[in-house]
Amino acid sequence: MPPLGATDLSARDRQLRVAHLDADAFYVAIELLRHPELRGKPVVVAGSGPRAVVTTASYEARRHGVGSALPAARARRLCPDAVFLPPDFRAYREVSARLMRLVRSHVEKVEVVGLDEAYLDLEGLYSPRAAMRRLVVEIERSLRLTCSVGVGPNKLVAKVASDADKPAGFVVLTREQACARFASSPPAIVPGIGPKTAARLAALELRTLAALAAAPQELLIAHFGPNMGRELARRARFEHDGEVGSPRKVASESRERTFDTDLRDPQHMREALARMASELCHSLAAHRRIGRTIGIKVRLDDFTTVTRAHTVPEPTCDPALVSEVALRLLSQYAPARPVRLLGVRVAGLSAADASSHDAEPARGARDSTGTGGRARQLGLPV
Ligand SMILES: [Mg+2]
Repeated sequence: MPPLGATDLSARDRQLRVAHLDADAFYVAIELLRHPELRGKPVVVAGSGPRAVVTTASYEARRHGVGSALPAARARRLCPDAVFLPPDFRAYREVSARLMRLVRSHVEKVEVVGLDEAYLDLEGLYSPRAAMRRLVVEIERSLRLTCSVGVGPNKLVAKVASDADKPAGFVVLTREQACARFASSPPAIVPGIGPKTAARLAALELRTLAALAAAPQELLIAHFGPNMGRELARRARFEHDGEVGSPRKVASESRERTFDTDLRDPQHMREALARMASELCHSLAAHRRIGRTIGIKVRLDDFTTVTRAHTVPEPTCDPALVSEVALRLLSQYAPARPVRLLGVRVAGLSAADASSHDAEPARGARDSTGTGGRARQLGLPV
């Protein structure tokens, strides 16, 4: 028997450095564990307000054209027999924590990118494919959830591969195989090519990844600038050197809400905005992030949308300060019409750990009282 060691790895296996794991119809799958009588039926997890959207649909409901982000009212028309359940994010977060613990017990370097999604660094594993098969079996056994897995030389290939054969997919591709398999797919299947970019590419007759990969570089650079032009061509060839565990730097975080009925009472607007500011700051504190620029977004009933922002002297995630600034920006704008949507944002984010104000924001985030008036001390507009 040949000795086991890195030298025995086939050239192909050495290429398989990254996996993307994605639980199938995660929210619905969790609901089906609690409501086994709904198995095999179209099930949709969606909010209940008139402007609610679908968060997840079971594969039975997807056959009727119901998918994520579809307005719930439209989903009800498309699939009147579907069972609609309200989302229970607390339950989803609990299952997610167990799922990610399991993933981390199999693979050391993991980059969680959503409640049900993660990139796994497979470098150094003797048999990456066998390791991923074992993990999938273990997840199914202990959490009773199915996952789809993509394995490839980089995050782009892994992500697109995990999406290619859902549910319970297991797709292993080299970069060259990915180029061949997805040659006729639209560019937007590749992460980093959003709907707006896809529309601009379509206007240039670049409607497939093969067409984009073959496009003259000068054309892309002329339309998208040198950086993005080159990056689009690389992505079309599934070239990517982003490491697992180095997620894109988050520049800002926000919360916004479209109201079931437009808000007319300034007090209701203030309450809604303060609530969102508090939620946002708790999330920032949980991720140990702080930022200096606090902004609001207001959309009126005629769809006029305005943003206002103010930069404070020190980065913060203090809910009292953030909501005080946000409320002042709102009262300065003084919406002249009923308000359809409100949002609050903290931008210019940095890691709280890297700052000398380390402990303070986290404490502020837990204690949302007692810091009133701080905006005034900081010389903010009154
Ligand atoms: Mg998923």
